[in-house]
Amino acid sequence: FAKQSGKNQYKFFDRQVQEKIMLKRKISTTLRYALNTHAFTLMYMPIYHIESLEVAGAEVLLRCIDPSMEGIGPDQFISVAEEFGMIKEIDLWVIEEVFRILQSSGLCESNPDFRISVNISAEEMNDIHFPDVLAKLAQQYAVSPACIELEITETRLVDIDASNIDVLQRIRALGFRLALDDFGTGYTAFNQLYHYPVDQLKIDRSFINELHEGCKHAVMVDAILSIANSYQYETVAEGVETQDQLTLLREKGCDLAQGYFLSKPLKWVHFVELPGVKIYESSPSA
Ligand code: C2E
Ligand code: MG
Ligand code: MG
Ligand code: MG
Repeated sequence: FAKQSGKNQYKFFDRQVQEKIMLKRKISTTLRYALNTHAFTLMYMPIYHIESLEVAGAEVLLRCIDPSMEGIGPDQFISVAEEFGMIKEIDLWVIEEVFRILQSSGLCESNPDFRISVNISAEEMNDIHFPDVLAKLAQQYAVSPACIELEITETRLVDIDASNIDVLQRIRALGFRLALDDFGTGYTAFNQLYHYPVDQLKIDRSFINELHEGCKHAVMVDAILSIANSYQYETVAEGVETQDQLTLLREKGCDLAQGYFLSKPLKWVHFVELPGVKIYESSPSA
């Protein structure tokens, strides 16, 4: 009997794996199609100065608008894009689209302190040409690199080597800023952090979500803020969903915050309507 049920379990497991592979294939086909038909759009999640609650900029978030991708967000499809060799094309599409809208709106010129954060795959660190590509695009679209912050997820830094660091350093030398995204979920030892040429730490949403004074997440947040402080990294709290979390983070001295309590990701036309956000004139909607 045990043998029998073991076999059934195995079949069940097998089917689950099979279904996962099918879903991945379907997503990859849709992504390919979406790249060819421009079925992507960008959302802008406002980032606020925690002290003044003034807008500091926004994080760009990718959406696939193909109907068959309903309910499937970047958390799912970015890893598929990486696995099926499409991520570089997607990252480039996003970067170029962001540069285009920044140029046509004059957002960075009108708000010199603003920063637009763009997520890039950690794979870009393996591409020694990536800094040149960035520089060329920034020049082509007359975008000041100082206005752009590139986010790399911390969990993806496990195998980082000297050549990856070199790529990051060259990106920074061009004037772009770098952020470590989802910080606290990876395995970066605090004493290794200074190897990474970054400007900003984004404290992962999982620590902020259940944050209240005295809880174990609060201890973690304190530790991250203290290390960021000594290395002079700017800090961003991700996923702020309540007033209490915001108040606590302000007391703890976190610099910036984003999250549903402050604002959900917005379409460009709505982002530029926020108080304090200036643009040249009405710009094409994205
Ligand atoms: P991320 O960079 O950590 O982005 C933050 C994610 O958390 C976003 O989900 C955002 O909508 C969500 N979020 C922010 N605040 C809250 C909150 O208060 N509550 C809740 N429940 N969620 C919140 P999204 O848009 O699904 O993005 C997921 C991930 O996909 C991103 O994580 C990023 O790693 C990746 N991603 C998104 N856009 C791009 C892109 O253009 N290129 C690349 N390479 N990756 C991207
Ligand atoms: Mg991010
Ligand atoms: Mg994040
Ligand atoms: Mg994330």
